[in-house]
Amino acid sequence: MKIVLLFTVFIFNSCFKVDTVDRKTEERTYKKEEKSVVSKPKVVVTTSIIYDTVLNIAGGAVELTAIMPPGVDPHIYTPTKSDLLSIARADLVIYNGLYLEGKMSEVFLKLEERGRNVVSIASFIDKSNFIEPKNFPGQYDPHIWMDPNIWLLSFEGIANKLGELVESKRAFFIESANNYRRKVEALSEEVEKKISTIPEKQRVLITSHDAFEYYGRRFGIETIGIQGISTVTEAGVGDIKRIVNIIIERNLKAIFFETTVPKRYVVSVIERVGAMGHSLKIGGELLSDSLAPKGKQGDTYIGMIRYNTDTIVNALK
Ligand SMILES: [Zn+2]
Repeated sequence: MKIVLLFTVFIFNSCFKVDTVDRKTEERTYKKEEKSVVSKPKVVVTTSIIYDTVLNIAGGAVELTAIMPPGVDPHIYTPTKSDLLSIARADLVIYNGLYLEGKMSEVFLKLEERGRNVVSIASFIDKSNFIEPKNFPGQYDPHIWMDPNIWLLSFEGIANKLGELVESKRAFFIESANNYRRKVEALSEEVEKKISTIPEKQRVLITSHDAFEYYGRRFGIETIGIQGISTVTEAGVGDIKRIVNIIIERNLKAIFFETTVPKRYVVSVIERVGAMGHSLKIGGELLSDSLAPKGKQGDTYIGMIRYNTDTIVNALK
């Protein structure tokens, strides 16, 4: 592009009076600079996890906004009028995809069809990496950030997309994405080492909903959720019974809350297990579909995976 532009200027300079062209070129350059100072491109993302990831790649080169604040459950989030307005005004929208954003998924798919600059993180990752849950045939588990080695596969795609918006920063985005990828790779190795300190028999993670399948597959820990991969469907008596039986049969010691999911199902499991003379402790509160609020442990993507790992290791070891 630059080469073409330089070449065009060269042709102009050769054919017309130099002073006229120079003034025009100056005006063009000025307008371009003025525009870039006044407004950065607006990038709107859905979850706090995507926000932190994109921020690590974009730096301050774009105006970045997340629709869902920390602590919000993306499966059941209904967009407000102001969310829809900021989506409409955005130069680029990045969402997770694989129906994580339950109620918003259709909106994004329609916008994509209409040719708007809307893209999912999942579209940057080869489908062969995704888990197909038995209970939801034909669907992929959307919790792809839980395996750092899968999540980092999207960084290059994000950088390229940002590069289309701010061409002058293309190299910077690619470099940031590479640096961030190395940090996330190191995180993955750190988690692997920590999880390996839990005795194999105790490597079972029971949570409110199935958000940790990717984490479990990557780090060798069995995962059991009371609800399925989405929190849209309520858990029934049968689900609670199934979990209680597994806990008693296998003499499991801990169960975990999640910050984005109501505690009632976990509490109900603890009560039933207790009534059967088995004590089950609360392993802590995990960050599944959202980061922690700013200033708390787990308020970045890397911090979140580390916080979850430390909580799991402390409870199960
Ligand atoms: Zn979830």
